[in-house]
Amino acid sequence: MHRRQFLGSATLGLAGLALPGCATVATRTAAAPRGCLPPVLVDESRIIRTVAGLRPYRAAGFVVRAEALGDKRLVHNYGHGGAGITLSWGTSRLAIELGLAGHNGPVGVIGAGVMGLTTARLVQEAGFPVTIYTKALPPDTTSNIAGGQWSPFGHYRDNAVTDAWRAQFAAALDYSWRRFQIMVGDDYGIRWLSTYTEGNPPADGHHPSAVQLTPDQHPFPVQGMSRYDTMYIETGRFLRQLTRDVQIAGGAIRIRDLHTPADIAALPELLVFNCTGLGSHVLFNDTELTPIRGQLAVLLPQPEVRYAFTGTAGYMFPRADGILLGGTFERGEWDATPQPEDIARIVASHRRLFAGLRCTA
Ligand SMILES: Cc1cc2nc3c(=O)[nH]c(=O)nc-3n(C[C@H](O)[C@H](O)[C@H](O)COP(=O)(O)OP(=O)(O)OC[C@H]3O[C@@H](n4cnc5c(N)ncnc54)[C@H](O)[C@@H]3O)c2cc1C
Repeated sequence: MHRRQFLGSATLGLAGLALPGCATVATRTAAAPRGCLPPVLVDESRIIRTVAGLRPYRAAGFVVRAEALGDKRLVHNYGHGGAGITLSWGTSRLAIELGLAGHNGPVGVIGAGVMGLTTARLVQEAGFPVTIYTKALPPDTTSNIAGGQWSPFGHYRDNAVTDAWRAQFAAALDYSWRRFQIMVGDDYGIRWLSTYTEGNPPADGHHPSAVQLTPDQHPFPVQGMSRYDTMYIETGRFLRQLTRDVQIAGGAIRIRDLHTPADIAALPELLVFNCTGLGSHVLFNDTELTPIRGQLAVLLPQPEVRYAFTGTAGYMFPRADGILLGGTFERGEWDATPQPEDIARIVASHRRLFAGLRCTA
């Protein structure tokens, strides 16, 4: 298993979602780590906030496609499910390659989540002036809610995608993988961490350090663990810095709620990128796009915790702005409000997990 497997309740159904990490992979065996991992101190009294967000999920995968809208070229870049942070630089690059070919003049981008901001930056890097039109800015986007693990999880159904889409996915993943690496550090809030996961490590070819662990090689009170390294993105800091980058490079940001394609047709730019995430359900009547709610309990930061966990208890990502405990995956749920009973279950499952943490000799 990897990223989120979770708590086993009816509200958390994962059936039918692609779990790229569940494939069997050949992995090395680990050198046994020694000593004790610092435990996460899980208690209701340590909760500093609870949040819920709606993953923009499409069984047929994200949409990166160009079309004509009156005299404009409109390029879609939305529908990334539980993997939008991971895929952002990559699908935004595919989108600008579709859009900028043969284009002259200013460019419009709709949306200021991770897709809108990375698209706007890539447009600027290619030398074009950009204006972002958006209903809401960070911190009021779904992208701000994301846990920020770099892992392409939960964003399509295996039997619903085409070979052409798979090629887009592979290209996007590859560019994102390389782009995030050159941004590691405090400026963008990106760091590498070891992740302990129940089951096999991800099989997407981007985790060269993956190892399967014998019971004496890990401290968790669960069977069948592996460990791999990946990047973690502190989404609030990352999006704040990207917003600044857009502005420093001369980009404009306008607060606009666009209700119909006709509103987009009325924008002055002849090239417009649609990065509205779940907003495309209404704006473009994409009924394939459905929310998958995720809820998080955020605990007081513990800087000494420098590892992540994913498994049946849920997931734990340690960030500078708090310890994130999550793991719900609630399909078709449009209410982005944390539910106290779900939060209590997330906290309880992690309390049990960390209470059983042992040292390895
Ligand atoms: C709990 C949770 C955990 C997650 N964890 C991870 C993770 O660990 N790793 C990972 O890779 N991904 C994760 N994700 C998924 C990720 O958050 C999303 O895939 C990603 O944020 C989608 O980005 P976006 O820019 O498309 O959408 P959004 O962030 O929703 O941005 C859309 C933008 O468009 C604007 N907009 C929408 N409609 C209109 C309109 N009509 N007019 C004008 N503006 C409009 C909005 O105001 C907003 O600015 C998680 C998601 C959740 C909820």
